[in-house]
Amino acid sequence: MYAPGDVRVIDAPDPRIEEPGDALVRLVRTCVCGSDLHPFHSMKPNPRGVSMGHEYLGIVEEVGADVATVRPGDLVIVPFVFSCGVCDFCREGLQTSCRLAGLRSRRGSEGAQAEILRAPLADGTLYKVEAGEERYASLLTLSDVYGTGFHAALTGGASAETTVAVIGDGAVGLLAVLSARLLGAERIILMGRHESRTDLGREFGATDVVAERGDDGIQAVRELTGGDGCHVVLEAVGHLPAFEQALGIVRDGGRIARVGVPQYTEGPIGRSQFARNVTITGGVAPVRAYIDRLLPGILDGTVDPGRVFDVELPLSEAAEGYALMDRREALKVMLRP
Ligand SMILES: [Zn+2]
Ligand SMILES: [Zn+2]
Repeated sequence: MYAPGDVRVIDAPDPRIEEPGDALVRLVRTCVCGSDLHPFHSMKPNPRGVSMGHEYLGIVEEVGADVATVRPGDLVIVPFVFSCGVCDFCREGLQTSCRLAGLRSRRGSEGAQAEILRAPLADGTLYKVEAGEERYASLLTLSDVYGTGFHAALTGGASAETTVAVIGDGAVGLLAVLSARLLGAERIILMGRHESRTDLGREFGATDVVAERGDDGIQAVRELTGGDGCHVVLEAVGHLPAFEQALGIVRDGGRIARVGVPQYTEGPIGRSQFARNVTITGGVAPVRAYIDRLLPGILDGTVDPGRVFDVELPLSEAAEGYALMDRREALKVMLRP
């Protein structure tokens, strides 16, 4: 990406093994993320371009001398944050704070919207899986959006005893619905305006859909919940109005889990939140930690999170993929290298 709206597919040199813990992964599927649309709207022009993409599924092509857990030919999920797998944060399941990599460093790796990737810290990061091509779309969601939706539902405390609201009908919001359902929630209110998306949300477990926004949306959710609001609010947008919406519909003593990348630095967390004992949680999702738990449902066909991909394009048409998502003509675009 060179500037807002300027995406180009170029030829770049193939990556090579640089460190003994690296693996080279030939990607079989990748995709465009809702969060890729933020720079698509507002990035500072960069004449050298920025390599994009962070959701990967691929086949290991070559490994460095120290790599022990994967071999050439293995199908692997590549979580969007690299992690060592052995430091204290990784062992605690917060790989995004890994002391060797995590969000502190991409360790020189290039983006996922490519044919081949150098994956540093392969032993800690890559997750080997055995599955046929019919599962590729769902497996790809484990590299980000499904794990991110699950992180929202888990940190928000979704359970059979809670009423849940999900703000946002993008891929993460819809998979937050699916995750809240998995955790036992029976009443799930999805806030979104795109009917084809909210229809999929209903199939994932939403019991109510609220299309209104702002004060009207707050009013509608309060009416659905006897005036009190929801115990759990999952915010999967990242813009300030969505956070304000969350504060408006959360029940006293409830929890707001934010997983949309915040596009704001200031917001209302003052007296009202204090007086009402509202917990604000969520954050960037350590998706590597959730693969063990979410993979079996995909492999046995109980869940099909890959349905969030409604358009598939060859990698060479990545620019069109961004444009379709920007115009809301596609929910999530899968790219086939
Ligand atoms: Zn993403
Ligand atoms: Zn680590």
